[in-house]
Amino acid sequence: MKTIRRKKYIAYKCGKCGIISVFPSAIGDGNTCIECSGYILPIGEARVHEKANTTMTIGINVDTTQLDEAMDKAEKLNALLCEINKTSPPL
Ligand SMILES: [Zn+2]
Repeated sequence: MKTIRRKKYIAYKCGKCGIISVFPSAIGDGNTCIECSGYILPIGEARVHEKANTTMTIGINVDTTQLDEAMDKAEKLNALLCEINKTSPPL
């Protein structure tokens, strides 16, 4: 059974430009409008739609694969450079 943990956010409406800004509830008070830095009033709790953690896991897997490939190529390049240094005559 999947459990999706949703972060809590608070939505604020700007008194100057009317744009609604959303901040994580953990940040607390003292925020200003994202657009105009105007004074904002809390209008209620908000939730942000997020896909399940599968996207994050796939991204990490791809990165790890690419890192392994990069390390492999770096090792081969290093070995090749060592070989060239050994065999090439001094300039
Ligand atoms: Zn504003």
